[in-house]
Amino acid sequence: MLNNLQATTTLHNGVKMPWFGLGVYKAQDGDEVIQAVKIAIKNGYRSIDTAALYNNEEGVGQAVSEAMEETGLSREDLFITSKVWNADQGYESTLAAFELTMTKLGLEKLDLYLVHWPVNGKYKDTWRALEQLYKDGRVHAIGVSNFHVHHLQDLMKDAEIKPMVNQVEYHPRLAQLELSTFCKEQDIQLEAWAPLMQGKLLDNATLQEIASKHGKSIAQVILRWDLQNGVVTIPKSTTEHRIIENADVFNFELSAEDMEQINGLNENLRNGPDPDNFNF
Ligand code: NAD
Repeated sequence: MLNNLQATTTLHNGVKMPWFGLGVYKAQDGDEVIQAVKIAIKNGYRSIDTAALYNNEEGVGQAVSEAMEETGLSREDLFITSKVWNADQGYESTLAAFELTMTKLGLEKLDLYLVHWPVNGKYKDTWRALEQLYKDGRVHAIGVSNFHVHHLQDLMKDAEIKPMVNQVEYHPRLAQLELSTFCKEQDIQLEAWAPLMQGKLLDNATLQEIASKHGKSIAQVILRWDLQNGVVTIPKSTTEHRIIENADVFNFELSAEDMEQINGLNENLRNGPDPDNFNF
C-alpha cells in the first residue's frame, strides 16, 4: 500500500525499494548534506540517492551513521543508492570505483548501484562489474540511469542479470511514455530524477489549479503524480521545511481527471542532456 513514506516497491529480484527518497545532487559535502540527510531520515525518509559525481558520499555516510545512532534505526531500514561515474566505466575501474564509494560511505553493502550514463562502448563492461558485485553480495540491487529503450535492449542482449531500476529525467514536461511502457513490460522500476524539473515547473498554472483544489503545493502534486504513475521519486532539497513538505504526499489522491490534465503538460522536453548526445 502506497500510504506512507516508508512504502516500498518490490524490484524484480525481490528487494524492496522505497517509493520516495531524498536526492542530494549539488548538496555540499560536509554540513549541508549531513544536515539534509539527517533531517530527512528523522522525518521518515528511508532512501537517499547519491553518486560518486556528487562528491558528497562521505557526508551522506556520516549522516546515515549519526541518524541511525540518534533514531535507533538499523542499516536494513535504510536504502542507499550510489552510481559509478562515466570516467570510471569499464570492468576493473568500476570495481575500484565501487570500493572507493563504499569507503567514503563507510558502508559494507550498498542497496542500489547504478551505471550513471550509457557511455558508448563501455556500459556493457561496466554492467559486468555490477553483476559481479551483485553476485558477491556487495549490493542488493543493480540498475542503470539515463538509458533509453535502445540502450536497455542492447545491454540486455548480453546481460546475465536484467537491470532492476532505470533512473531517468522524468517530470510532467518529460513523461517518458515509450520508456515507461517498456520498463513496465520488462519489470524494470522507473525512477524519476529532477522530478520537479529542478524548480522550473513550480509556477505552472495548470499545476497550481490542481494544487489549490487539493490544498497542496505544486511540488506535492508533481510528486504524487510520480507515485500514481508507478515511478519512484527522489526530489532534492536541503531546506528542512521543503524536505518535510515534499514527502507529505501520502494523504491525498489525484483524480483520473487531474492525472490526465498533468499528462497533458508533456512536451518531451528535457532540462538535462539527451542520453543519445552527451559529451561527459
Ligand atoms: P529536482 O527536480 O529534485 O529539483 C531540485 C530543486 O528544486 C532544488 O533547487 C530545490 O531547492 C528545489 N525544490 C525542492 N523542493 C522544493 C519545494 N517544495 N518548493 C520549491 N522548490 C523546491 O532536481 P534534481 O536535484 O536535479 O533531481 C533530484 C535528484 O535526482 C538529485 O538530487 C539526484 O539525486 C538525482 N539526479 C540524478 C541524475 C542522473 O543522471 N541519474 C541527474 C540529476 C539528478
